[in-house]
Amino acid sequence: MQLSKRITTLNAGGSDGWGVFYRARQMKEEGRAVTELTIGEHDVRTDTAILDAMHQSALSGHTGYASVPGVARLREAVAKRVQSRTGVETSARNVIITAGGQAALFASHFAVCNPGDRALFLDPYYTTYPGTIRSAGADPVAVQTRPEDGFQPKPNTLAKAAPGARSLLINSPNNPTGVVYSQSTMDGVAEVCRQNDLWLISDEVYDTQVWTGTHLTPRALEGMKERTLVIGSMSKSHAMTGSRVGWIIGPVEAIDHLTDLATNTTYGVPGFIQDAAYFALAQGAPLEDEVAAPFRRRRALGAELIKAQNHVRMIPPDGAMYMMLDIRATGLGGTEFAYKLLDERSIAVMPGESFGNSAAGHIRVAMTVEDTAFADALASVLDFAGQLAEQQR
Ligand code: PLP
Repeated sequence: MQLSKRITTLNAGGSDGWGVFYRARQMKEEGRAVTELTIGEHDVRTDTAILDAMHQSALSGHTGYASVPGVARLREAVAKRVQSRTGVETSARNVIITAGGQAALFASHFAVCNPGDRALFLDPYYTTYPGTIRSAGADPVAVQTRPEDGFQPKPNTLAKAAPGARSLLINSPNNPTGVVYSQSTMDGVAEVCRQNDLWLISDEVYDTQVWTGTHLTPRALEGMKERTLVIGSMSKSHAMTGSRVGWIIGPVEAIDHLTDLATNTTYGVPGFIQDAAYFALAQGAPLEDEVAAPFRRRRALGAELIKAQNHVRMIPPDGAMYMMLDIRATGLGGTEFAYKLLDERSIAVMPGESFGNSAAGHIRVAMTVEDTAFADALASVLDFAGQLAEQQR
């Protein structure tokens, strides 16, 4: 039996970019010791106090169908959090709770794009972006950013791609680059959206992981509240990746229609998960800072190691849990380098090419193992790159 074109073309016939990761997992299954600096997942588990809240909620009966757009107090808590951080008036009616940021990304594109509409996204990109856009029926169009610009998108490049497009997806703090968009980048993005009547989908799932500068949300810019859908998630901020809870913030009309979509797809997020998320948000900034602290430490450790050598250049990671390293001096592409590193040093990193053409010749290092192991692994990556670079001379 034939499957649908829509599902069989999700990855556009290419790979999903996770080859090195799968090989590393295979090696581990065979009993080999591999340091994995691949996926964006904390090396700590969800705080036990959050699990207790989840358990209590389930025991007290919150195991039936939950309210489809989200339980009232969680929607209110998310709205309050967003309003206090951004100054933009936000009520519970501007919020829908989703099964994580990923479901929010899909639903947002489904909400704003008609079948076949051009949906812009920025390269390098989080690996699911093109497939998510395709699965919502739209046509993904990558707009390049450049390492020479610190991967900040240039308004004139965006302006060239914008005519006739329906939406633009941005992500700051950024995965994979760690870049936090500057005020002038955000102003330029907003201007292009206003001039070309684009919806802006702003993926802000790393908003609690900012190491230098300030997280800016484009929804706060003039004329943007009505054309912006903000994606949020408890995955990264509260180490709740497996709980699958996040949200979309947007105009009331969009949220109402997104609720219809949820009624016909997920039928909402489990009540006991939402209660756990409510409890976690109520802990405020101290818990978010605690979850972010290891990445802040490792970023500092990593920066010292990078400073002490001159073959590998780092795109300064202003936020998120990754370091993007330029390994072009080795003469290898990111994919070739990553496979060789895995084979010869048993360290798994993500090739820049997994995130699009703009990050070719780079590797993404996730800062997701304990400090000493992280520093040892990064030192080994740098030594390996240094040896290859010396052979180039
Ligand atoms: N957006 C970005 C940029 C991500 O890196 C991720 C996960 O790694 C997600 C969205 C999806 O996160 P979740 O669905 O766990 O909220």
